[in-house]
Amino acid sequence: MIAPWIRDWRGRYWGAAPAILAPENTAEVEAIVIRAGELGVPLVPQGGNTSMVGGATPPADGSALILSLRRMKRIRELSLEDNKVVAEAGVILDDLHAAADAAGRRFPLSLGARGSATVGGLVSTNAGGTQVLRFGTMRRLVAGIEAVLPNGQVYHGLSALKKDNRGYDFNQLLIGGEGTLGVVTAATLELVPAVTDRCVAWVGMSSPEEALRLLRVFEAETTQVESFEIVPEDSLSLVLKHIPGTRNPLSRLHPWNVLIEACATSPIAESPRTVMERVLAAGFDDGLFDDAAIATSEAQANDFWRIRESLSEAEKARGPATQHDISVAINLMPKFMVEAAAELAARFPGTEASAFGHLGDGNVHFHVRAPVGADPAKWYAEQAPLVTAYVHDLVVASGGSISAEHGIGQMKREELERLGPPARLSMLSAIKRAMDPAQLFNPGKLVPDWTYNDQANS
Ligand SMILES: Cc1cc2nc3c(=O)[nH]c(=O)nc-3n(C[C@H](O)[C@H](O)[C@H](O)COP(=O)(O)OP(=O)(O)OC[C@H]3O[C@@H](n4cnc5c(N)ncnc54)[C@H](O)[C@@H]3O)c2cc1C
Repeated sequence: MIAPWIRDWRGRYWGAAPAILAPENTAEVEAIVIRAGELGVPLVPQGGNTSMVGGATPPADGSALILSLRRMKRIRELSLEDNKVVAEAGVILDDLHAAADAAGRRFPLSLGARGSATVGGLVSTNAGGTQVLRFGTMRRLVAGIEAVLPNGQVYHGLSALKKDNRGYDFNQLLIGGEGTLGVVTAATLELVPAVTDRCVAWVGMSSPEEALRLLRVFEAETTQVESFEIVPEDSLSLVLKHIPGTRNPLSRLHPWNVLIEACATSPIAESPRTVMERVLAAGFDDGLFDDAAIATSEAQANDFWRIRESLSEAEKARGPATQHDISVAINLMPKFMVEAAAELAARFPGTEASAFGHLGDGNVHFHVRAPVGADPAKWYAEQAPLVTAYVHDLVVASGGSISAEHGIGQMKREELERLGPPARLSMLSAIKRAMDPAQLFNPGKLVPDWTYNDQANS
C-alpha cells in the first residue's frame, strides 16, 4: 500500500518509510512537526509525488516519515474582487483549475502532471509549465503562504499584500524550497480572467533559430501568445509510436515543430484565430516556415496539446535516458540545442540527444537516450553520470542553470555541489542551518551535506 509513495515518478529512486502521516489540517501538521522535533525524526513532505528529481522520495534507510499533504484539499476562499484563491496544500492542480473556472477565472499555470501535482508541490518546486511565457512561474503567481516551520511555528503569510517591506521575503524563500525549510499548508494564488477564445497551431520548421525568430514576430504583433513550445522530429516520432491515438498534425515530418497557443480573455479582443492567421502569414512571408496547421476545433487543439504533454511519457517508453531540465539565455538557446546535441552524439557514440519544451523561456528538457540495446542498469550506473556531467558543463559554460523548473531534489544535489557557484552554495547552506538546525525537513535533498559539517564551514 505504501509502495507508490516511496518511489519517484520516473522509477529512478526507491526509499523506505515506516509510515505515511496524512494530516487533515494545519493544526495537525503543527503537532506532527513538534513531535517529530522532540523525537528527532525527519519528515519528507509529499504532495502528488510527481517530482522529476526524486524530491519527495524518502531516504533509503527508512529513517524518515512521509508527511503527505494529500488530505488537505480545501479551497478555503476564492475572491473575485481580489482575483485570488486560497487553496490548501493538497489541492490537485486540475481541481484548482476547475474551481477557478467555476468562478469565471483562471489559474494560469499548467503542466503535464496536473492530474496529480498539488499546490504544496507546485509552490515548493517553483513549478513552471507551459504558460510561463505570459504569466511567469509560481514565484509570480503565489501571493501568500501558510507553512509550518522546522521549529514548529506556523508562518501565517496568506494575506496577499501588494506592498510589504518588512525585510526578507519569506514567501519567496519557501517557494522553490523543496520542503527543506517549511511544510506548506496553504497558499494564496493569483487568478486571471478566464479565456474567452483560443487558437492553437502546429508549425513545421527547419531550425530552432527560425522558431525563435517566429516567436519574436508574434511578440511584436500581439500579447495573446501564452505558449510557444518546441518539439524536435525524433521526440514527435516517439509520441506517435508510443502514445495511442496521436497523429502528426502535418502531412509530413519536419526537423522541428512549434506548438503555439494564443488566447483572448475578453469578447471584444481580436479573435485569436485572426491573430494566429495574421502572424503566421507574416512568418510565412519572411520565409520562416512552409508548413503549418491551425486547429479547427477544440478537439483538434487538445490533440495538438496531447502530443506536447505526452513527450515525457513517450521518452520514458523508449527506454533508458538521462533528462536534463536546463536553461540558458533565450537568445543562446537555439544554438545550444543544436550544438550540444551534436557534441553529445560525438562524445558518447550511439546516444541520441533531443531537446524539447519551453523555447520562449530559454528552458528545454534535454534528454540523452541510451544506445539501443544498452543494458539499463549498466548504462545508468556507468554512462549516465558522465553524460549528465558533460551536459551540465556545457550549460554552465553557457552561463545557464542545471535546473530550470524541476528543482534539485536528490538527483542534482551532487551536481549543484560540483558546479556551485560558491556564493550560492554558502547562502543556501547558511539559510538551511539557521532554519532547520536538526536537519529534519527533507534530508538529502537540495542542500549539500557539508551544510551540517562545522569543520567544513569553519
Ligand atoms: C508528466 C510530468 C510533467 C511535468 N511537467 C512539468 C513542467 O512542465 N513544469 C514543472 O515545473 N514541473 C513539471 N513536472 C514536475 C512536477 O509535476 C512538479 O515539480 C510539481 O510541482 C510537483 O508537485 P507534487 O505535488 O507532485 O510534488 P511532489 O513530487 O510530491 O514534491 C515535490 C517537492 O516538493 C516538496 N513538497 C511537496 N509538497 C510540499 C508541501 N506541502 N510543503 C513543502 N514541501 C512540499 C517535496 O518534498 C519535494 O521536494 C512534471 C512532472 C511530470 C510527472
